[in-house]
Amino acid sequence: MLVQIAPDTITRLIQVSDVTTYEPVGDQPQQERRRAAYQSRSLEECITNVSTPKGGKKILKAMMTTACEMNCQYCPFRAGRSKMKRLTFTPDEVAKSLDTLQQAGKVEGMFLSSGIIKGSVTTQDKIIDTADIVRNRYHYGGYLHLKVMPGIEYGQLYRLMQLADRVSVNLEGPSQERLDTLAPKKDFQRQLFSMLQLAEQIRRTHPDEKLAGTVTQFVVGAVGDTDKELLTLSSHLYRKLGLTRAYYSAFHPIEQTPFENLPATPALREHRLYQASFLLRDYHWSVEDLLFLPDGGIELDQDPKRSWADRHLRETPLEIMTARRDQLLHVPGIGPIGANAVLKARQQGKLLSLSDLRKLGIRAPEQASPYLLFDGKRPFAQLSLF
Ligand code: SF4
Repeated sequence: MLVQIAPDTITRLIQVSDVTTYEPVGDQPQQERRRAAYQSRSLEECITNVSTPKGGKKILKAMMTTACEMNCQYCPFRAGRSKMKRLTFTPDEVAKSLDTLQQAGKVEGMFLSSGIIKGSVTTQDKIIDTADIVRNRYHYGGYLHLKVMPGIEYGQLYRLMQLADRVSVNLEGPSQERLDTLAPKKDFQRQLFSMLQLAEQIRRTHPDEKLAGTVTQFVVGAVGDTDKELLTLSSHLYRKLGLTRAYYSAFHPIEQTPFENLPATPALREHRLYQASFLLRDYHWSVEDLLFLPDGGIELDQDPKRSWADRHLRETPLEIMTARRDQLLHVPGIGPIGANAVLKARQQGKLLSLSDLRKLGIRAPEQASPYLLFDGKRPFAQLSLF
């Protein structure tokens, strides 16, 4: 069927599906498929099921070109790597492919990235041209997630944010020092961090316009970066620059790159980083709330919220009727919705037991049990059978 739709371009697009391995895009990045690096060969491999702000979607992950003049040490697309097949597409080809796949019900959105050829500005123009065609020739109103090239111009970033639902500025490392080792040709402040600052400035300058949210990605664990560094920067980005989310991609070595012999980063570290990052973003924790080991890592053997609660609340539990919202958000098992429900219910009467919490929609109140008092007493934690 695909051959009938558009044999050449779509067959070639399938060849660039390596991008699916390196670019998480949805709200549940850990569920996005990881697989061996190159030589994929079905359409399914360049389509990822992701959850987006507009619900679950099948997203086409595509690149304008798999050629690149940069030399990021971990990247399969880096210049000079002969194992990577180099393919290049025109804006018309990519836009037409999205339209075709979308009409055939195969995809519901696109993530579009690119290797860099003839500089960032020229490369970015190709992504912008593609998105323009998608939106204005094919009148496609669905989900678009576009990659921001390092150090592009103000007008380009503004246009991208008008065309996309999300734009990615991948910082890769948490500082210039880390980036120097990961991606020697990139300038942390001038080409990457400034893009996130500019995006926030654009949002503030055009408050009435519908503009894309910004996300970033870190490559975790290849160059000695610590969780403390990554989470401190993430917190700043959430609070000051309106970041929608940070992605943490556990490093895994790619053959025929300078990092091919480095050890892979454990997936559990990535998982704990996401847990901590959600506490910063959705629970409004400060970085100081997170417990770091002397080497700057977070504990791997339990989630960061439980670590904090064990240290601070086991001996001095919180009284459910008087705890502030921010205190409730430090209790395992209670999230923002649960905390709001507790505050509301307290205005109507006393909460006397864990089953009262369950009635409020808190699904596993027994998780909160060691850290709460009900009328001055520790609750009896009966495990839910259902
Ligand atoms: S600029 Fe992007 S595609 Fe090129 S080597 Fe670096 S990470 Fe890879």
